[in-house]
Amino acid sequence: MKIEVDTHTHSIASLHAYSTIEELSRSAKKAGLKGFAITDHGPALQGYPHPYYFGNLRILPSKINGVRLFRGVELNIMNAEGAVDLTEGYIDALDFAMAGLHEGCFRPSSRTINTKALIAAIENPLVSVITHPANPAFPVYYEEVVDAAVKNGKALEINNSSFKVRVGSDETCPILAKLCAERGALISCGSDAHYHKDIGRFDLALPVIKKAGIKPHQIVNRTLKSFLLFLESRRP
Ligand SMILES: [Zn+2]
Ligand SMILES: [Zn+2]
Repeated sequence: MKIEVDTHTHSIASLHAYSTIEELSRSAKKAGLKGFAITDHGPALQGYPHPYYFGNLRILPSKINGVRLFRGVELNIMNAEGAVDLTEGYIDALDFAMAGLHEGCFRPSSRTINTKALIAAIENPLVSVITHPANPAFPVYYEEVVDAAVKNGKALEINNSSFKVRVGSDETCPILAKLCAERGALISCGSDAHYHKDIGRFDLALPVIKKAGIKPHQIVNRTLKSFLLFLESRRP
């Protein structure tokens, strides 16, 4: 299966990533992608982009080096009530927003509290995708998370980098993927590239998606068209 849009990448604006948007776009073209999203971390992580960074993404062209650029953010989920770290005005001006649990902003808690936070973020109308929901550092009740995603039309991410950097993902991601397949949840497949050579890499995520039995139409970013339709469906 070929994925045409990489929904999850970081530029040097995220301080622990190492490539510019120009480098990312060139590598996206080389990887044969039709589009990619720049989704730097929200401002609550200390030293990360100021909200103005997200506000000013509008000056970038919608195509760079022949590849469609989507303006996004990877928001931090701040508490069990699902608060995120960018205000509605900034988020509305972007193409879409993802949100995830990160240790700098949310201390890993009980399975019950982690689940409550993820479901609250899923129910937040500003959020379209939950990043790395199967992160073993934040155990959750997968059935409840998947059911909430189905109910709210949100996508759960199978994150290619998780298999390299989030220890235990080999066990948790297949569990999540299987539930997504069985219950018809939408998923997104992102590289979470922090270096441009990793953009468009889905080599570890795709076998898990396939083995779980997730149907192509469940993958929101499988084609440029399907991703545009997903974003359209998210507009009020
Ligand atoms: Zn993340
Ligand atoms: Zn990320």
